[in-house]
Amino acid sequence: MPELETIKNELLPHIVNRHITGVTLSWEGIVRQPSVEEFCSCLKGQRITDVNRRGKYLIFSLTSGEALVIHLKMTGSLLLRSASAEPDKFIRAIIHLDKEAGLYFRDPRKLGVMWLVENTNSIIGKLGPEPLEAGFTPQILAQRLTNRTAPIKALLCDQGFIAGIGNMYADEALFAARIHPLRLGKSLCPDEVKRLHDAIQQVLWSAIKDKGASVDTYFRPGGELGTAHFEFKVAHRLSGKFCPNCGTPIERIVVRNRGTYFCPKCQTEKA
Ligand SMILES: [Zn+2]
Repeated sequence: MPELETIKNELLPHIVNRHITGVTLSWEGIVRQPSVEEFCSCLKGQRITDVNRRGKYLIFSLTSGEALVIHLKMTGSLLLRSASAEPDKFIRAIIHLDKEAGLYFRDPRKLGVMWLVENTNSIIGKLGPEPLEAGFTPQILAQRLTNRTAPIKALLCDQGFIAGIGNMYADEALFAARIHPLRLGKSLCPDEVKRLHDAIQQVLWSAIKDKGASVDTYFRPGGELGTAHFEFKVAHRLSGKFCPNCGTPIERIVVRNRGTYFCPKCQTEKA
C-alpha cells in the first residue's frame, strides 16, 4: 500500500483536471469491465476530477460520475510520460492525456486490472478498514481479532480483515510488534494488539515517507524507485541473514502460501 499511496500522491498534482484524449491497449486482458470497446470509448473525452486510494486500488473519478479503478497487482506501475515516449515491451495500456502526456500502465507479468464503473462498491465494498485512518484504533483491531482462528500473518494479508497491508509490510509489522506470524488472531492479548496496531501504522508511514519499496518492478510515476526496502528488518531477507536486534538467523516459513520472514527469538510463540 505505501507504493499505491505514493503513486496517488505523486500523480494527483499532475493529472487532476486533465482530459483523457484516448486509450491504447497492447494487452486487452487488462480491462476487466466493461467491454474493451466500451471502456475505450467511454474514457475518451472525460476529465479526471480526483484520484484516491482504497486498499490497493487506485480510483480515478471522472466527470461522467464514473470511476476508473486500477489494481496494479504484483508487478504493475503507472508511469506519467510525455506522449512521445517510446513504450517498452511491458507497457500494456496507455491512457493518453491532453498536453502531450500519457499514463503508461507497465506490467511485466500481465496481472494488473482496470475497471470502468458507475459504483465502486462492487470492487471495494468488502475491504476492511484503512490502517492509517483515524477510525482504525487498537479497539477496532481487537474487535476484529475476536474469535479469529487464522494465523495473524494471514489475517494481516486478508484485504477483508484490513485493507492494504502487503506481504512485506505484514512481516515488518509483526517483527516490530514482536509477535510470531503463526499466532492465532484471537490469542493476542490487549498489550500485543496495541503493539501490533502501533507497528502497522509506524511501518506503513515510514514506507510512505520512503516512497514505497522497489523490491520487484515497482516504479514511482516519474520512473524513480522507492527506498522503503532499505529499512526492512526481516521482510525479503534471505533466510539465514541475521536479526538486527539479536543476531539470530532469520527464518522463512510459508503461511497460507505467503513466504514469511521472522526472527524466532524476538517473535516468540507464546503470549
Ligand atoms: Zn531477533
